[in-house]
Amino acid sequence: MTSPADLARPDLDAARTAYEQLKDLGMKLDLTRGKPSAQQLDLASELLTLPAGEYRAADGTDTRNYGGLQGLKELREIFAPFLQVPVEQLVAFGNGSLELMHDTLVHAMLSPLPGGERRWVDEERVVFLCPVPGYDRHFSVCERLGIEMVTVPMTDDGPDMEVVEQLVVSDPAIKGIWCVPKYSNPTGVVYSDEVVRRLATMPTAAGDFRIMWDNAYTVHHLTETEHEIADLLALATEAGNADRVFVFGSTSKITLAGAGVAFFGASQRNLEWWLALTAKRTIGPDKVNHLRHAEFLGSPDGVRAHMAKHREILAPKFAAVERILSEELSGIEGVSWTRPEGGYFVTLTVPPGIASATVALAKEAGVVLTPAGATHPYGRDPDDAVIRLAPSFPVLDEVEKATRGVATCVKLAIARQGA
Ligand code: PMP
Repeated sequence: MTSPADLARPDLDAARTAYEQLKDLGMKLDLTRGKPSAQQLDLASELLTLPAGEYRAADGTDTRNYGGLQGLKELREIFAPFLQVPVEQLVAFGNGSLELMHDTLVHAMLSPLPGGERRWVDEERVVFLCPVPGYDRHFSVCERLGIEMVTVPMTDDGPDMEVVEQLVVSDPAIKGIWCVPKYSNPTGVVYSDEVVRRLATMPTAAGDFRIMWDNAYTVHHLTETEHEIADLLALATEAGNADRVFVFGSTSKITLAGAGVAFFGASQRNLEWWLALTAKRTIGPDKVNHLRHAEFLGSPDGVRAHMAKHREILAPKFAAVERILSEELSGIEGVSWTRPEGGYFVTLTVPPGIASATVALAKEAGVVLTPAGATHPYGRDPDDAVIRLAPSFPVLDEVEKATRGVATCVKLAIARQGA
């Protein structure tokens, strides 16, 4: 048994030997993206046979035809409580929330937002706050649109609000902030009520400031505790800031990741702005898919019951990551990892300067990880210390092997740095 003191820095020779053994296994494993596994997708295979002969919505709408820009009401009713948006202010749309986030920001670029004076393309600078570590695809949307990104540290309760409040009040170029408020990607952080309240009420210099509230993991619990967060839209509305909130979500990790339904919610004024612009882009969303989802899930309780089945598949994978990282890396200075109670990711923090080397070693040994830096804007983690692990897709045995492999690489990277 090694004492924690002995573990403070891994032994270089032992780490090298372990790494050579790892390479000899000739593994080919992938812990990169937060995709549901085939076993999870199978939970929704009944969708492929729905709607069962019926194509009319509850109000008689023929879902096969054009129209119905806001999406089917019976599906919006099922998701309104989870997304904390009144049904009348919620849109059900295409299959991905990322496209809704992208398109909403494109609309803001090209048409003044409620509360704004001009289109964002006519601004000298448009800046978004990005709590880090965060979700790489949010950052890619900003890069694509020329939106400057300024990082804000994450705490265990959400973004550091001292920093956020100070920045948004002093600079009118700051037009938004990205937030994944529940089981955040990649830290698993659940925003505290206090953080949500401060986001809803804080003064901002920009009249068209927006919170991109990406509630992608609202029902994706890994334990029996169904964490709740404060209602941002309600709090903002109460404070006279209803227009600052854009809510997003989807069934990508509830039903079928490539054939689900995405949602957008906002104030009435924002909604009118959004629907008017979206009407130029499409005559209406895929309402047959909405109907099929409404039939399959049935009710909010139907969603809860379905998510419990996902949890049965996912929880053992996250438990394996936790167990193996504890066995392999406990007590090593500068190494820590998150123990998420929901969502799709574990964040592994290693000593500064080690993350890219770890990812490169893992790749050489056949374990593909999300590139180091992906959790930060422009792919640059200034400390080179954050590694995102995504254990959902591989089968359990592969998750175990890959995690042990990652731990071996962390130890070698640290031992080498100290040598
Ligand atoms: N937001 C977050 C925080 C995510 O982690 C993901 C998927 N990894 C998405 C959005 C993408 O969602 P969708 O499939 O609805 O586009």
